[in-house]
Amino acid sequence: MPVSVRNMLDAKGRNVISVSREKTMGEVATILNQNRIGAVVITSLEGRIAGIFTERDLVRCVAEQGAAVLEKPVSTAMTTNVVRCREDTTLNELMEMMSSGRFRHVPVEDGGKLVGIMSIGDVVKARIREVEQEAEHIRAYIAG
Ligand code: AMP
Repeated sequence: MPVSVRNMLDAKGRNVISVSREKTMGEVATILNQNRIGAVVITSLEGRIAGIFTERDLVRCVAEQGAAVLEKPVSTAMTTNVVRCREDTTLNELMEMMSSGRFRHVPVEDGGKLVGIMSIGDVVKARIREVEQEAEHIRAYIAG
């Protein structure tokens, strides 16, 4: 069975830091720092995904517009065309999404609602585990 997003969420948990579109970029910077994360998902009151805002967006805004941008709502700079995955998405499919889209975060959606998030760190961890297990199987096969 290929490794799925469901397997990965079972291991790491389903907690996602989400904010409303009115939060300022300064407030979001504090949230990213306090939680030691690289992205927040912006959700509507119903829990639907409205956008994603990452540390890269923050750096771009400050570099282009200066520190005054930190007073602006996150909705003015978030990416609204969010690539999402589902719990039955495979690890390989997730790697392909991140690689071809050149981003490091993919929210997990179920029934139109946000139910988790996958980061490049989660992907690397799961892939290392998968490679180790494959090597273990091969060693057992050769020994047996
Ligand atoms: P990241 O590498 O995740 O920091 O994101 C790099 C850029 O891609 C930023 O502009 C993000 O807003 C955007 N981004 C991150 N994740 C996604 C995603 N799942 N779908 C679409 N854009 C994204």
